[in-house]
This record gives sequence, structure tokens and C-alpha cells, in this order.
Amino acid sequence: MKASEIAALKDEPACDHNKVAEKAGCARPEPGATAGGCPFDGAQITLLPIADVAHIVHGPIGCSGNSWDNRGTRSSGPKLYRVGMTTDLTEQDVIMGRGEKRLFHAIKQAADEYAPAAVFVYATCVTAVIGDDLEAVCKAAAARWGVPVVPVDCAGFYGNKNIGNRIAGETLVRHVIGTREPGPTPTLPDIQVHDISLIGEYNIAGEFWKVAPLFDELGLRIIGSISGDARFAEVQTMHRAEASMVVCARALVNVARRVEERWGVPWFEGSFYGVADTSQALRDFARLIGDPDLSARTEALIAREEALAEAALAPWRERLRGKRALLYTGGVKSWSIISALQDLGMTVVASGTRKSSEEDKARIRELMGEDALMLDEGGPKTLLGTYHQHGADILIAGGRNLYTALKARVPFLDINQEREFGYAGYAGMVDLAHQLALSIESPVWEAVRRPAPWAHSKCAGTPLELPVLADVKTLEDEGAVHG
Ligand code: SF4
Repeated sequence: MKASEIAALKDEPACDHNKVAEKAGCARPEPGATAGGCPFDGAQITLLPIADVAHIVHGPIGCSGNSWDNRGTRSSGPKLYRVGMTTDLTEQDVIMGRGEKRLFHAIKQAADEYAPAAVFVYATCVTAVIGDDLEAVCKAAAARWGVPVVPVDCAGFYGNKNIGNRIAGETLVRHVIGTREPGPTPTLPDIQVHDISLIGEYNIAGEFWKVAPLFDELGLRIIGSISGDARFAEVQTMHRAEASMVVCARALVNVARRVEERWGVPWFEGSFYGVADTSQALRDFARLIGDPDLSARTEALIAREEALAEAALAPWRERLRGKRALLYTGGVKSWSIISALQDLGMTVVASGTRKSSEEDKARIRELMGEDALMLDEGGPKTLLGTYHQHGADILIAGGRNLYTALKARVPFLDINQEREFGYAGYAGMVDLAHQLALSIESPVWEAVRRPAPWAHSKCAGTPLELPVLADVKTLEDEGAVHG
């Protein structure tokens, strides 16, 4: 990818960062920033959930290992996306210039063994540096093996993870969206079916399946999604949606903007976290589509679902009211989860903003007040210091902070991509309340905070007597060690 193309991706008119003097795109990478993901990682996060595609990482095996299956995205059908594929380039391949040949054969192997709907080929630092011509190899392989082959030029040194998301979106706009027409719109008695699409919804822990039945009931057919539980053929048809929603993913607004410019698909940004935001998302679809009957049915559905959610949440609200949470997550979740927690009667003492846009920060202030405490950096010392200083009851953050919380013996809830539970929609909100209460009220916290039994024993202060090696040998001989 040329430097001018990367600069163009950073200059995103639909992104708030463009209002600042320097077209930085997203937060500038700092030393160590790829610990949060490089562009290759960002591109895989966006594209890997397309479940019937063979995803080949062209580079050393470490890149593939770095990103394979690192999100809990779920598929209701094909599992091909979970097969890790890489050209596994070695030093010898680089020296002998065998990269392109290996890639060509890797595409053949994937096509022969798995009959994928398409093959996506990801560039990495090494293959970008040695100058492998991804476009040419993909074109030749597509012609030779009769399968669509899409080059994703996402070398790790192009920037940060957000740029990788954006490159992935741009790749779909250039090579995939608009290359196929959708099947005929189904007919339902008394209901006009409308086609919609989702951008930036990854079906983490299968959470979108909690929302999908509502769309079915309203007669909203999801013709394509980027990219939770997606199929290649569906993504090809997204240009025919009547409305699109950018779900908690500002890095992908470039896709929404480009699809609107090219095919006239209107879009809005929204979230499925929390009762109010879920209702608003459904309303926004009805508003953009402009069907009065759909609007009336949407309001009826919202009234029914909100009443059901209220009833289901009542006992959890009792238990969670007044509890204090420290939230450390990124982007849109830095405010959408605040609104969900406040909905439960909880107080958010601070929110992490390391990956948040200026608009995200404005939403945080709107919800938490002008003096909202925002954490731009979330090392263990900062997180635990804030936690104790503000009397928090739970740390809600990503999986990488799990051990920070456990070592400090404080309740923790995983809110990021590796989580086991889905929190989207009305049903997801009830699950979120359930998991919060389970974590805060778990008896384990009291047990682990108690002084260790030996701290009170008479032996306190005397060294623990460990068996010497000879004794261990005797015990092993007697079968007392290792079962
Ligand atoms: S693409 Fe580059 S930065 Fe990313 S994992 Fe591979 S070597 Fe590391």
C-alpha cells in the first residue's frame, strides 16, 4: 500500500479526529502500541469472522499465532474461519525469493482442501518489506483456481490496530461489496420486508443472536454484516441495504461513508448495549427506512421488550443499586457500557479512554458529568489506585486486566472480545446484570482477603519444613508422589 493511500485512510471525513489539525486518523501509535494490535491484527479482527472464507496469513508463522482466534466471535454455520492458515515463511524463503510461489501454492491448497467461498490473503511486515506483489499473486491464483482471492495489504508497520480495521473495510469496499446481487426479498403476510446491514458487529460470544429475533419479527432482513456470523456472499450484497448501522466501531465509519457515497445507503451509529440504546437502534432503522407501518410496529415491539426487560431486571437492580464500578475498555464501549451500568443504578467512578474518539469522550461527559474521571492510561498501578481511591466494587475491563484484578483480590468482569457472555440487546442486559451481581457478591473475595490460616498459627515465623530431595525420591518409590 502506498504512503498516500495510508494517509488517505487516516483522512476520514466521517471521523471526529479529522477536526484536529493533524489528520492523525486515530490515536498515534507509541512505542509498545502494537501490544494493543498492529494493522495486520486489526484487519484480521474485522475480517476473520467471515466464516466461510479461508484466511491465509502471508508471513512468518508468528504473525498468524499472534492473532489466530483471539476473539470470541461465533458462527452459526461454517467453522473454516477458525482454521489457522499461513505460508509460514522462513529465512530461507526470504533469501531465495520463494514468498510469492509459496503463497500461490497455499491458495491452491486452501481451495483444494476446503472449497472456501473465497480466500483472503493478509500481508505482514516481512512480506511487505521484501516486496511480494500480493495483488498480482491473488489475481493469478483467482484465475487459475477459480475462487475469489482478496489481497489485504495490512503490514504491521503501517500504523496501529485502528488503521488495520480501516484497511480491512476499504478492502471490502474495493473488492467485495457490490460484486453480487441479493436473493429476492422474502414476502411475509401483512409485513413489508426491508433489507438492512450491520457494520462493526462481531457476534462476540454469540451476543447478536439475542438481538436477531427482534429484527426477524420486524421484517428487517440482515443481508450482510461486517462481520459477525457473516458469509462471503452476504457481504457481497451489502450495497443493496436500505439502511446500515455502524455498531460500536468508529474505525469502520469509512465503510459506511463509502457505501453511502457509492450506492446511496444511509447509515447511523448506534449500540446494542443497554435497554435505551437497543431501543434507539431499532427506532433509527425505522426512521432511516421511512416506512410508517414499520415505525408503528417498532414502537410496539420496544414497549413490549422494555416492559419484559424491566421485570427481569428488577431483582438485579435491587442487588446492584449503589454499587460502584471502574470501567476500563475502549472506543464506543467506554460510554455505551456506562449508560447500561447507570441504567442498573450503579455509579461509574471512572472510564478508560485510551482508544476513545473526541466524540466518545463527549458522550462520557454527557453521562457522567463535566468532571468525569477519564483514564488515558490503564497500567495496573493506575487502575488499582483509582479503584481503591474511589471505593469501587468491581473492575470492568478487558481480559488482559484479569490478573491485575485477581492478584489484587478485587471483583472483575471481562467486557472485551475474549468474554464468555454476550451482553447485547434486552436479554444481554439481563445477563450483564446477572454476571455483575455474581462477580461482586461471590464469597471468594471475602475468603481470599482473610489472612492465611498459617499467619495465625504457632508456627508463624518459623520456616516451612520442605522434604529434601532424598525424601522426595523415597516418597516417589512408595508411590506417594504423582498419584
Ligand atoms: S504484521 Fe508485523 S507487527 Fe504485526 S504481528 Fe506480524 S511482525 Fe508483528
